[in-house]
Amino acid sequence: MQSITHEDQFRFAYRHVLGEVAENPRISGVEIAERLAAVLAHLEAEEEHRTCRCGRAIVMPVGATQWVHDTRDRERGCRAATFTSSGGWDDSNPRSWTAKPAKP
Ligand SMILES: [Zn+2]
Repeated sequence: MQSITHEDQFRFAYRHVLGEVAENPRISGVEIAERLAAVLAHLEAEEEHRTCRCGRAIVMPVGATQWVHDTRDRERGCRAATFTSSGGWDDSNPRSWTAKPAKP
C-alpha cells in the first residue's frame, strides 16, 4: 500500500532531471525548469481521476496503490480532506472512511 504526494512527484521529477543534467552539464536553467515542468505534467496527465464515496474528487497518482483526495495535501482520509483553516473539519462522513471510488 503506497500513497504518493505532490512532494514525492516533485522528488521523482527532480531526480529524473538531475540525470539529464549529469549527461548534459551545459544545460541551461531555463531548460532544467522546462524539463521539470514536462515531467510533472506527464505524471499529472497519467493520473486516474474518480469521485470518492464522500463526494470529493480523488486521484490515483502514477506508481501509487492507494487513492487520495485531489487536494493540496492529498489526504487519504475523507474527514482530513475536508479541512479548511476557517471551518475546520466536516464530520458528516464516518471518521473511518478513506478515499475510495463511489459505486456507479
Ligand atoms: Zn473521500
